[in-house]
Amino acid sequence: MSVQKVLEQIKENNIQFVDFRFVGLSGGAHHITLPSTEVDADTFVNGVAFDGSSIPGFRGIEESDMVMMPDTETAYVDPFTSHPTLNIMCNIHTPDGQRYDRDPRSIAQRAEEYLQSTGIGTTAFFAPESEFFIFDDVRYESSMHTSFFAVDSEEGAWNTARKEEGGNLGFKVPVKGGYVPVAPVDSQQDIRSEMVRLMQETGLRVERHHHEVATAGQAEINFRFDTLTKTADNLLKYKYIVHNVARQWGKVATFMPKPLFGDNGSGMHVHTSIFDGDSPLFYDNKEYANLSKMAMSYIAGVLYHAPALIAITNPSTNSFKRLVPGYEAPVNLVFSKGNRSAAVRIPIAAVTPKGCRIEFRTPDSTANPYLAFAAMLLAGLDGIKKGLDPVALGYGPFDKNIYDLPEEEKKEIRSVPGTLDEALDALEADSGFLTESGVFSQDFIDNYVDLKRQEAKAVSIRIHPHEYSLYFGC
Ligand code: GLN
Ligand code: MG
Ligand code: MG
Ligand code: MG
Repeated sequence: MSVQKVLEQIKENNIQFVDFRFVGLSGGAHHITLPSTEVDADTFVNGVAFDGSSIPGFRGIEESDMVMMPDTETAYVDPFTSHPTLNIMCNIHTPDGQRYDRDPRSIAQRAEEYLQSTGIGTTAFFAPESEFFIFDDVRYESSMHTSFFAVDSEEGAWNTARKEEGGNLGFKVPVKGGYVPVAPVDSQQDIRSEMVRLMQETGLRVERHHHEVATAGQAEINFRFDTLTKTADNLLKYKYIVHNVARQWGKVATFMPKPLFGDNGSGMHVHTSIFDGDSPLFYDNKEYANLSKMAMSYIAGVLYHAPALIAITNPSTNSFKRLVPGYEAPVNLVFSKGNRSAAVRIPIAAVTPKGCRIEFRTPDSTANPYLAFAAMLLAGLDGIKKGLDPVALGYGPFDKNIYDLPEEEKKEIRSVPGTLDEALDALEADSGFLTESGVFSQDFIDNYVDLKRQEAKAVSIRIHPHEYSLYFGC
């Protein structure tokens, strides 16, 4: 949408406020709101000033002035405000008019430009499956309590869930038993449908929604793939709508990867493919899982760099509580057609040549999508540039149940890092694939690792409730 069109929309729809938004390092959106009487063509040339020193990981207090430059393509009418408000996502500039190097959106856009500069393809498409829980406010509190104190086994989680629901035991979702039952077991169809309605109203093309595997109202809504930056913008809109509809319904939604011990966590599997104009480059019907040589090398790049990549796609201490065996979250750095414990899966059901894609199952929604999609693309492109072969590198394919493999073979399989600190170590040791193209700067990586180390430390120095069960009686 041009600036002219936005200004017309403001008039025609009687918009009273314009909400200028940008993305912080953590992937959360921030906003400053202007009355529409203060917005004219100049606003889109000069931008909107804000204080960068108050955003974690941005600038120091001595160089705090920053500017939001609106990207008019992203404008949509906010479905929640009581005064008609137009939301616009912005790029961040320094006061001298340069793109701000740590702005996640600038990194996403540089990654797209880099793909084109390699000549490998013109466009990379992304589609995230961002899972989340919808808790009653009361349930949320007791779930936190449950996951800390009470549940040491699946049976424990189930008993607790039954108790928490109260009353009769019919039509309750058992632990790990929530995958697509109809109502009354699925009591959240209406709230998900309302989320979808508002997503559609604000321009997202939603494909489906369902109750996910975990007991306590786990949900997933899928919206259509798009290019890198657009998909990250879409994901922010998606989360904004999920959180605010939940709030309107007296509930709380969380994208935290593992809110409940003993049940499935919430992932954000990411599907990717590369096109040259209209032609899909990942498809070859003569090869394994219909994957072209290029797609295989892309997979090899993702798996090879995965330990470092995961510091960006799974950037929280809680992320690693999800990446454990037994909950459909990946632990093995291998690829496979069907195996859900593999980090890379190739969907084969109902796939057309244009729909041929790879699914990276490790990420979760604590990732900043701009950084995560950019880093994934760079890992894959590195694999393509080096002509890596995932079979020769020992990454599979593993189409059998990995737990049934002979011990010898199992030993060869590499695993995801066990903690955020391990992933950060890997990123420090392997960041060339991110920085050599100029998409991420070394300063960005250093600053990022520093922030994340502080986060890991803040968690590790706190006394964990489970320590009481282990040690209080000593
Ligand atoms: N919740 C699982 C995860 O953590 C995925 C389950 C699914 O989508 N089949 O990745
Ligand atoms: Mg899914
Ligand atoms: Mg799912
Ligand atoms: Mg999936």
